[in-house]
Amino acid sequence: MQRNRRVGLAFDLPSWCMLNDMLAASLLTLPMPPPPRYDLVVRDGRVLDGAGNPPFRADIGVRRGRIAAIGQRLGPGRIEVNARGKIVAPGFIDVHTHGEDIERLPLAENFIRQGVTTIILGNCGESRSDLGRYFGVLDRTGIAPNVASLIGHGTVRGRAMGGSFSRRPTDAEMDKMKGLVDRAMRAGALGMSTGLIYQPGVFATTEELIELSRVVARYDGIYTSHMRSEGNAILAALAEVFAVAEGAGVRCEVSHIKLSGNNNWGRAAEILGVIAGARARGLDITQDQYVYTASSTTLSQLVPQWARVGGADGYRARLADPQQKGTIVEEMKAALAGRGKDTYDWVTITSCQSDPALNGRSIPEAARQRIGKDDLDAQIQLILDLHGAGSAGAVFHGIGEEDLQVFLKHPNTMIGSDSGVREFGKDVPHPRGYGAFARVLGRYVRELGVLSLEDAVRKMTSLPAVTFRIEDRGLIRERMWADLVVFDPDTVTDRATFREPHQYAEGIDYVLINGVPVVADGKPTGARPGKTLRRRAPR
Ligand SMILES: [Zn+2]
Repeated sequence: MQRNRRVGLAFDLPSWCMLNDMLAASLLTLPMPPPPRYDLVVRDGRVLDGAGNPPFRADIGVRRGRIAAIGQRLGPGRIEVNARGKIVAPGFIDVHTHGEDIERLPLAENFIRQGVTTIILGNCGESRSDLGRYFGVLDRTGIAPNVASLIGHGTVRGRAMGGSFSRRPTDAEMDKMKGLVDRAMRAGALGMSTGLIYQPGVFATTEELIELSRVVARYDGIYTSHMRSEGNAILAALAEVFAVAEGAGVRCEVSHIKLSGNNNWGRAAEILGVIAGARARGLDITQDQYVYTASSTTLSQLVPQWARVGGADGYRARLADPQQKGTIVEEMKAALAGRGKDTYDWVTITSCQSDPALNGRSIPEAARQRIGKDDLDAQIQLILDLHGAGSAGAVFHGIGEEDLQVFLKHPNTMIGSDSGVREFGKDVPHPRGYGAFARVLGRYVRELGVLSLEDAVRKMTSLPAVTFRIEDRGLIRERMWADLVVFDPDTVTDRATFREPHQYAEGIDYVLINGVPVVADGKPTGARPGKTLRRRAPR
């Protein structure tokens, strides 16, 4: 019986044999290529590993989002990227962004098109308050770059203290703030940021910052600070950063290091010396920077802090009182003179919701347009009017090129754009959002020779990954996530200018995030392979 059944089966054997013969014949006439060994191979590039080592020629094989192999003549990939003659580097990590808008603009083209593969949100004291929830939203939305975040001290302070915050917090409020910071750290925040020129952070004492930073330190997080001063009072501001580092046992990052106001120019070496002194005492202090001689924030920063307390109502009441208004104007003139200036021609409006026709205009130009005069009193009146109407964004041309280069050369300086996600064509924002990283490579490496290419790449990759505890990124090594950028060192450049900021960087050919191309042949692919990166709790 069994045998019969086999015979029964054998009845089909000829067809099997025929099929095999056919297959064998087709293989003879049409040789099949070997199956792809990798999902993607970046072929024959000059690899800069991100650690600062000189480039070496190699292929990089990617499998399941990670670097699977680095070597010569790797087997085929389902996708092949020809990088001959180009640099292949780890994707850039932007340590200082205000990219919360990524929820609305998930492709974040201004970042990815200059090779940025990870952005850190939540800077200058402002972040989403419930980071766990926010990460969940971004995971569901699908985003192009990887996103990590700090928890904003100002955000926490605002939540805990309500609308009245020009005072110390009560014990109960302090406990609430600590609870919010702790919750954020458990949700994966990299640390806590402060914005000590902005309300409500400006009213915090150093003791408050130390107490909250102790929570951050428990998780090996970092304290980043937009300091109280980047000009005349910068030494006192740095001393406060050191006091927090020492008092809380926390690692600290000086955000967007700079010297504002011509009267402070030439002090960069002195400032770095002060930081070196703190490091010699055992404090872990690092810094980041954007390579432009202009900063950008709200125009309201020109209006005295006390005049802005209590929101719109408080401000209106003070302005209606001739004596108080006189004091405001006097203080603004004194602050201007303190910078060695007698006009606001170094300030340009970037985005004014109440009067978009002012976008791109300097303060004297805007005063002429709105008030018909451009003397200093008219300029001050314009600034006060705009603050009363909801304020405006502005660019402040107040940084010296020489200082910028001294800061950039320091081995612990990394790059941060200080930019949000840009909506193409909207307003006249600071060009750093489109060009910060490409500008380092084009202007400061190739044109001016301030940095070597390998050191510039290190500042954008392994240095920030180590400093901010971003795991498995920032280096080209087997098993690291395949965040990679392929660029032409001879042509890479920023194109965005202060007059025409909406111009993408050039010379960036391929950008891979978690092994998936988000830029291919210099064009965005529309892919959204980004992950939310949560700092892992200490073991
Ligand atoms: Zn800032």
